[in-house]
Amino acid sequence: MPNQREMTLSVRQALALASSLASVSESPDLDVQLLLAQVLGKGRSYLFAHPDRILPALQQSEFQRLMDRRQKGEPMAYIRGRKEFWSIELGVSPDVLIPRPESEVLVESALSLFSHRPIEVAELGTGSGAIAIALASERPNWSILASDTSKAALLVAQANIARIFNGKSNIHLVLADWCQPMRQRCFDLIVSNPPYIRPSDPLLQGPPLVFEPTGALIAESDGLEDIGKIIKAARICLKPGGWLILEHGSDQSQMVYDNLTVAGYRRIESKEDLGDHNRAIAAQIPNL
Ligand code: GLN
Repeated sequence: MPNQREMTLSVRQALALASSLASVSESPDLDVQLLLAQVLGKGRSYLFAHPDRILPALQQSEFQRLMDRRQKGEPMAYIRGRKEFWSIELGVSPDVLIPRPESEVLVESALSLFSHRPIEVAELGTGSGAIAIALASERPNWSILASDTSKAALLVAQANIARIFNGKSNIHLVLADWCQPMRQRCFDLIVSNPPYIRPSDPLLQGPPLVFEPTGALIAESDGLEDIGKIIKAARICLKPGGWLILEHGSDQSQMVYDNLTVAGYRRIESKEDLGDHNRAIAAQIPNL
């Protein structure tokens, strides 16, 4: 990027710096608009109404700092500290995975499997709380336990829940490993987006994954270790007729299907994400 540090910068000139993001972003114009609007504390429309406005020095250096981060490939969600999921704006930090549109398949699947009757739900590895929050917003009468092994992640989830539900929610957060919540209670539904990326996957070396918490991404045994643990533990603690819904890698569908079959689940259904990849799977515990 040309060095604008010593120069005055108009809104128009700032917007033109989008070209410097071309190699790291699929939407450089939008990224610059969002960063500039954030720094100026205005909506994006303001930028087009005031193209000749000169950025005050403080805001110019703040804008420059955010642009530097974006040029290094840092995801917009971390730079802005927020990300939309299920039409809900969530706070995010590098302590949590950035919620992805493909995980909305888990929410859709859960809502379609259960009506509005009150049920007990566990979300394992909640991160920012995205899935639990989406479910709670649709089904206020469900009792949702959301766990994570990361204290830092739980703080992010807690802040989101407090803000979105004004302190009154049907989500209970716990610090716990995968199976711990299942040792104490039975559930009608267990839902999880666990780590499922192979440690050797080259994608881990580049953005966005290189910026995200490895504990939320990487799983041993070809990416299947945590999925395997959850399948086993949920088999014991789901109520008869209860459902397990898991996200997995697009090339892991068959292996997860086989794993569920061997563990005794039935009505196993694969779910496609928006890119038509098998991305999630739902499976039921037989009724007694
Ligand atoms: N969905 C993420 C990705 O493929 C990975 C999330 C995960 O491991 N659970 O980028």
